Order: sequence, then structure tokens, then C-alpha cells
Amino acid sequence: MKKLSKRELEDISRSFIDKYYEIMKKRGFRKVEKIEPKIMLREVLGLDIQYHILSRNGSILGFTIGAYCEVDVFDDGYRTTAVLDGNTVFIDSKQAEVNRGRTNFTLMHEGAHQLLLKVFPECYDCGVKVCRSTEATPFDPEESAEEWQADYLASILLMPREIVIAGLERYYRSQIYGKYGKKRYIAYQKDSFYKLADYLGASHQALRIRINELGLVLCKPPSYIIEYSD
Ligand SMILES: [Zn+2]
Repeated sequence: MKKLSKRELEDISRSFIDKYYEIMKKRGFRKVEKIEPKIMLREVLGLDIQYHILSRNGSILGFTIGAYCEVDVFDDGYRTTAVLDGNTVFIDSKQAEVNRGRTNFTLMHEGAHQLLLKVFPECYDCGVKVCRSTEATPFDPEESAEEWQADYLASILLMPREIVIAGLERYYRSQIYGKYGKKRYIAYQKDSFYKLADYLGASHQALRIRINELGLVLCKPPSYIIEYSD
């Protein structure tokens, strides 16, 4: 596995995000304000997405692999075999029915594994990536480091800096609190935050972590103020 910093993961993601913007511009979108994971996976990363029941207890959220592989799935309650061809991600269909934010994140997480395999083919084991909910993940330092990379890259792909800032502008436009130089301060409001998370297709937790990672939150003083600059 290649060791990668947060900065390096941001840099690696840039060309893929820019390619996404180019695709949307060709479709007539003058300004892109959100990232659709299915378009990112299918059209930018060239992946196929399939939905199956991946485990009996719902602990497995996604599978992907850099080579041909057969895995067990539990569609219609029966154990059966499905084929991953090296360019396919499997998403748990039960999760997809009930939790859009988490499913979007899982799509990007599986896409991130594939992106790393494509950018650094010699550095990553192309064996099957079994991606579980955090609570269900057994501790393995090497595996957990790779899962951390896929999670971090997923949050960048779903919520690039400029998309988060555009979203803050969109949902907090009428609530500008004040200006200081190039920075503007806006009051945190739960309703606007929830609307923004829903618009971006992200869970509240994922958006909160991403805003913090981008350094857009100034906790205190005063409290509950989001700070950002262009
Ligand atoms: Zn994973």
C-alpha cells in the first residue's frame, strides 16, 4: 500500500473532479454545484455499479476488486455467486433502499479504491475490498489504513472544497453574519446545515467532518460560526 497524506489525496483527486466538471459542462450545466456519485463512477472512473444483498446481517456495505473474482451474495434470501470483473463495484441493495447519504458515500468509497488501484497499480493489492460499516470492521492496521484512504478520498470526491463553499453560499446566503477582510462569517443554523447535507447527498456526519477538514469552521469565539473565504 502506498502511504498518502491528506494533501496528496486532495491532489490526486483533482484531475478526476475536473473531468467530472468537463462532462457536466458538455451537458449544458454552466455551474456544477453537486457531485453525483453514479456519474463519477460510471463516466469518470469507467466503472459498472451493481446492487446485491452483500451479507445476511447488513454489515457489508460494498465490494470491489481490481481483478476477476466471484463472491457470495444473498439476493432473495439465498446464497448465490456474483462476478466482479475488475471494473465493477457492488453496493448493498438493502442499504441503498433506506440511506441515500450513506449509499452515496459507499459508492464514492468503492470508487476511491478503484481510483487508487488505477493510479498506483503496483502499490495496492488487487484482492477483493470488503468494505463494512465502521462498527463491523475488524482491526487490521494495513487494512484500516487503506480503508482510511478510501474514506478520505470518498469525502473529497463527494464534497470538493469549491462544492462545499458553493453549498454554503446557496444555503446561508441570507444569513451572512459579517465580513473580515476576504473572509465572511455566517451563523450556523441546523436547518440550513441539514438542507445542505441533503442537497449534496451526504450524511450529516460526513458533511460535518468535511467542513472541519477544510478548515471552514471556527468554533469559538464566537460559537457556531462557519468561516470561509473564496
Ligand atoms: Zn473499503
